[in-house]
Amino acid sequence: MKKFFACVVLGMMAMVSYAQAITDGHYKKCLVIGAHPDDPESMSGGTMLALKDLGCEVVSVYFTRGEGGIVGKSATETAQIRSQEALDACREMGVRAVFLSQVDGASYVNAEAYAEMLELIKTEKPDLVLTHWPIDSHRDHRNCSILVYDAWRRSGYSFDLYYGEVMTGLQTQNFHPDTWVDISKYRDQKLKAYLMHVSQNTDGNIEAYHDPMEQMRGLEYRCKYAEGYVKQQKGR
Ligand SMILES: [Zn+2]
Repeated sequence: MKKFFACVVLGMMAMVSYAQAITDGHYKKCLVIGAHPDDPESMSGGTMLALKDLGCEVVSVYFTRGEGGIVGKSATETAQIRSQEALDACREMGVRAVFLSQVDGASYVNAEAYAEMLELIKTEKPDLVLTHWPIDSHRDHRNCSILVYDAWRRSGYSFDLYYGEVMTGLQTQNFHPDTWVDISKYRDQKLKAYLMHVSQNTDGNIEAYHDPMEQMRGLEYRCKYAEGYVKQQKGR
């Protein structure tokens, strides 16, 4: 029985130390790299706000401008609308926006794409990056994730890399966090920023999908709302 309690205590300590890994205040600059406008906010909005409160510079990076995301509008018009929504969300959170050159629904992984992601890392010099978990039903999410992973390796592991989740079940798949951030204090502000993506909330889906995810991660971490992550280990 004693052994059982020791395991429980050690397990809880491990959970706490993982959580502190993101929000213990030692990070100076964080990039949150999402495939589409609204991905950084939905995946990590609470963590972004928590990091900002700790004095960390936070940059929201959009891999595409969401060109395919509004039915009945051209790619150019949609990109314009969704870029503005991303800027509005960033203003709400007090973070800077950066847009990369890929196109929603037509993203690719090749030498040019690897180079662009590595250039972003070299220019911004983050010590923390949050991006999509690579197993995802959306091709753009997968491509974005794998390019960030490659840039992490090519930069000589110059930052800590964590994967997050979006619309788990429908998009993120087989995701089991090892790291949690309590976002209860930031959840309303996160939602306000997220709701700036008016074009993506036509059926109220923003809360419908992400509220249960944040509550589930909160149950795992024994708080009201949490965001979950998996830390990329260096290995050999
Ligand atoms: Zn997306």
